[in-house]
Amino acid sequence: MILFSVRKLKAGLNRKVNIMSYENYENMDLKGSVLRIEKSSIFDGDGLRTVVFMKGCPLRCQWCSTPESHHKRIQTTMDGSITYGHIMTVEEVMVEVRKDIPFYFHSGGGMTVSGGEILTQSKFVYNLVRRACWEGINTCIETSFYGDWNEIEPILRCTNTAFVDLKLMDPEKHKKYIGVSNDVILSNIRKVGSKKMDNMKLIIRRPLIPGVNDSKKDLELLGRFLAELPGVDHLQLLPYHRLGIDTYRKLGLTYKLPDIETPSKEYMEQCAHITNKYVRTII
Ligand code: SF4
Repeated sequence: MILFSVRKLKAGLNRKVNIMSYENYENMDLKGSVLRIEKSSIFDGDGLRTVVFMKGCPLRCQWCSTPESHHKRIQTTMDGSITYGHIMTVEEVMVEVRKDIPFYFHSGGGMTVSGGEILTQSKFVYNLVRRACWEGINTCIETSFYGDWNEIEPILRCTNTAFVDLKLMDPEKHKKYIGVSNDVILSNIRKVGSKKMDNMKLIIRRPLIPGVNDSKKDLELLGRFLAELPGVDHLQLLPYHRLGIDTYRKLGLTYKLPDIETPSKEYMEQCAHITNKYVRTII
């Protein structure tokens, strides 16, 4: 019990723990479709993270590196050698997350829920972050915000850091390269970012896809939009990469952007220079 209390203090989560002190094991048997759980990530929030990747995504970014996350159903490769996904309960995920508590304690890390698009399983994700929060575990989410605000808002109440992808401002290009309108995404980002928050960090991410969303005009549009949102902590620019191409082949799918190269560090710095005029930018 002493260790448990110290951990809550260390994670600095007493505020959230107090809010939810009396919510306990409700919905811990809820089932979700989980792609995989990765340990010790240093790229998905502060410290060492346990990343829970959920299956299911209504978007189709042409550069997506995880096509195996698109469908909620469990999938196998064409030759049947690899299976993607497991059905797990909230408690079964928490069992895996709790194993890493000693690493969170020393690194300031915690659990990150990613996708796919986590909002396709919003009830499961809500119960997962709520439980982690109740146990004093730092929580991050990675999302495109393509979902219903009424489902997003409860998740945010149990979230320490939200990483939100904003891939394109231009509505036509968004539809062309991602398959859906960006109206709901922009509206949800405005709702969260319109005021400063004490209890949650909002970080906007832009994967930079050369020739698609990295023109001066694209970056200026992004910078100006974020400059109006005081709740945004900073913008993070991520370089395009080609990881995951092999998975398309294994699933019998076609990768639509085969000729794009990963941008150089110098190029990333030039792009950051443009957006930094409007919003603090890191690469
Ligand atoms: S939102 Fe993420 S998981 Fe969905 S298609 Fe885009 S990159 Fe892939």
